[in-house]
Amino acid sequence: MLMITIDDFNFADKKALIRVDFNVPLNDDFQVTDTTRIEAAKPTIIKILEDGGSVILMSHLGRPKGVDNKFSLQHIIEKVSEVIGVQIKFATDCVGEIAEKASAELEPGEILLLENLRFHEEEKSGDLAFAKQLSKLGDIYVNDAFGTAHRAHASTAIIAQFFPNKKCFGYLLVKEIISIKRVLEESEKPVTAIIGGAKVSSKIDVIKNILDKVDNIIIGGGMAFTFIKVKGGKIGDSLIENDKLDLAQDILNLAKQKNTRIHLPIDVIAADAFSEDANTQIFPANDIPDGWMGLDVGPKTNVGFSFIIAESKTILWNGPLGVFEMSAFSKGTIELGNAIADATEEGAFSLVGGGDSVAAVKQFGFADKVSYVSTGGGAMLEMLEGKTLPGIQAILS
Ligand code: AMP
Repeated sequence: MLMITIDDFNFADKKALIRVDFNVPLNDDFQVTDTTRIEAAKPTIIKILEDGGSVILMSHLGRPKGVDNKFSLQHIIEKVSEVIGVQIKFATDCVGEIAEKASAELEPGEILLLENLRFHEEEKSGDLAFAKQLSKLGDIYVNDAFGTAHRAHASTAIIAQFFPNKKCFGYLLVKEIISIKRVLEESEKPVTAIIGGAKVSSKIDVIKNILDKVDNIIIGGGMAFTFIKVKGGKIGDSLIENDKLDLAQDILNLAKQKNTRIHLPIDVIAADAFSEDANTQIFPANDIPDGWMGLDVGPKTNVGFSFIIAESKTILWNGPLGVFEMSAFSKGTIELGNAIADATEEGAFSLVGGGDSVAAVKQFGFADKVSYVSTGGGAMLEMLEGKTLPGIQAILS
């Protein structure tokens, strides 16, 4: 894959139209509570400004139905200015006269933020005319929004066709693509994937796609019980997807054929209710009495999983090993994070991606101790499923 990046362009006197993912969390007073996504886009913005170009930022925020001040990107102007270190300008619409005038008046070194793309329903429907209107605002199109790269929206994919030879990936997208490649295609062996979380159904395609690319798959979280049951275990009241038992069996068979080792928990911390202050007891993972549900992996499992991780040179982590939101059932996820952090320090490459595992690494302070934390939940999962993302394809084609 030949990746055209912002390093292939000199932006002097050019207007860069960048799709960023500034879908940041806001509190009740509309203040930004987590600047990770803004910081992630900063290197791309700075490179363009340093070249002598100007920057037009387009993003969505939340899921507005039409124009709704609650979802206005005005709320983030000051935070973006603070993080980037330049006072940014704002256009109260992302297309039409207002946006075109603001873009025309933009001087080199300046940044313009456009109002929420999703105030126009044409953004999500991938409308060609809307994409064309957006395209008038810049000379070069840059996609740096990994979080929405799996959507074929106007600003993430459709727009690219209006920039033949003038479209490229920003630094963030490049980092995301390279880290996935380092795990699935150009990996140093042994490769271990840890797949946790609630349901087999949401991760089945990931497991299938990575089966012949990794040496070990550690399965934890609620989804492990469907596998334990199909192997004849007694799982008490633990989470189960009875309609996925056949699929779980298929995966176990396929893994055997491909010589991929699947590791399941051997013991669990079980509770007599789904609650922080429930009574807890440790049971073998395949012998949980009725009335008890496994909510975290047990101590023997922690030791076993940590050992496998210590031996690994490449590690992919998606999904928690237990109900980490409750401290009584967070130990397995924390110990896993510790093992990955230690392996990373010893030289392994570790990638954490997809939804709740990212929340867990942040909550428990591992974000700086792994090699890379992905900024895209759904996008990362789709890449792990082996799909080509529309936002990436649009730049490549
Ligand atoms: P996912 O979004 O599929 O990655 O699932 C994450 C959710 O799985 C978290 O909210 C966890 O609390 C939940 N989870 C993890 N382990 C278990 C378990 N053993 N039983 C029930 N829920 C679990």
